[in-house]
Amino acid sequence: MTHIDNDPFALEAMIALRRDLHANPELGFEEVRTSQIVADQLAAAGIEVHRGLGKTGVVGTLRVGDGNRAIALRADMDALAMPELGDVPYKSGTANTMHACGHDGHTVMLLAAARHLARTRQFSGTVHFIFQPAEEGRGGARAMIEDGFLEQFPIEAVYGLHNMPGLATDEMAVVAGPQLASSDSWEVIFHGVGTHGAKPHLGRDAMTAAAHFLTAIHTIVARVIDPLQPAVVSACAISGGDFRALNVIPDDVRIGGTARAYSAQVRDQLEAELGTLAAGVAAMFGIRASYSFTRRIPPVINDATATAAALAAASAATGRPVVTDFPPSTAGDDFAEFGNRVPGCYVWLGNGPAVDGALHHNSRYDFNDDAIATGARYWTRLVEHELR
Ligand SMILES: [Zn+2]
Ligand SMILES: [Zn+2]
Repeated sequence: MTHIDNDPFALEAMIALRRDLHANPELGFEEVRTSQIVADQLAAAGIEVHRGLGKTGVVGTLRVGDGNRAIALRADMDALAMPELGDVPYKSGTANTMHACGHDGHTVMLLAAARHLARTRQFSGTVHFIFQPAEEGRGGARAMIEDGFLEQFPIEAVYGLHNMPGLATDEMAVVAGPQLASSDSWEVIFHGVGTHGAKPHLGRDAMTAAAHFLTAIHTIVARVIDPLQPAVVSACAISGGDFRALNVIPDDVRIGGTARAYSAQVRDQLEAELGTLAAGVAAMFGIRASYSFTRRIPPVINDATATAAALAAASAATGRPVVTDFPPSTAGDDFAEFGNRVPGCYVWLGNGPAVDGALHHNSRYDFNDDAIATGARYWTRLVEHELR
């Protein structure tokens, strides 16, 4: 593909590719076609390609000059299991599978930057382009790390980006500190002694213990967590007994829910306090409780130094003031798996106004192709700035 100076990112081809990916979405760890396209494009640009990390993950490595610093830029490639209801000409051709989070755009912007950097080579050092599978709750980042990403590709910093409706396509938000919450789940089972509903004194009632526990968990955020630190504890499922046996007090009652925080310390507190309450309430009723807390995604917390670099790149890429007071989100992104192990920065790139109110994970959501140039320019400037 030829490039001319006023079209450094071969935009027409990149827009066509973005729409092709949109029309052919693939779910987490099933990005076979997408990862093949990515690998082919990287190889065609002369970039070293590594495959097989996290099953369908792809890493492109570009070394220029004798600089000994290395950084990584990360894009996610997966779609969501949901139907597309919009009317775009490049609508998903796969039933119940849709790029409703704009990862088609993320993939293309990082590819455009990689191809450009491989051609212009205006830096000195090593950049690894991470094309991650399975961001949407399937653990793609962790899978790449467990397959040895950090040992195979030692890096000093890692950078991520997500599209954001509401900001203009030439606008970016870069904020130090917490960006996205941790997303963990917990489960408690109260083990009582079941008995006849008419003779509660002959058993130990797990049902009443569960009810006390349900009200008590809300004292964690209200009474234990620092009031200036955001946190969420919600019970989202409960089961026990049988509606066909309303004269039986069951042995066990099971409760589960989610816990969210923006700091490692609060996350630790949520895990500990839920367990303390489960054990305490069980003791109060003379029964036993089993408790588990499953850490799914850590919070995304932007490192100060990495954020300064991202801010400079965003400013250069957009030529307008960068938004630095964008509020954090209670959603999660497993970019945190990288960002918790090496200093990182996760930024927002505008997707233009929300069309018909469609936001991320809406069946009419679509990535805005006008953002491709801004995103590719951001990645390029970041590399040229970080690896001067
Ligand atoms: Zn998403
Ligand atoms: Zn997403």
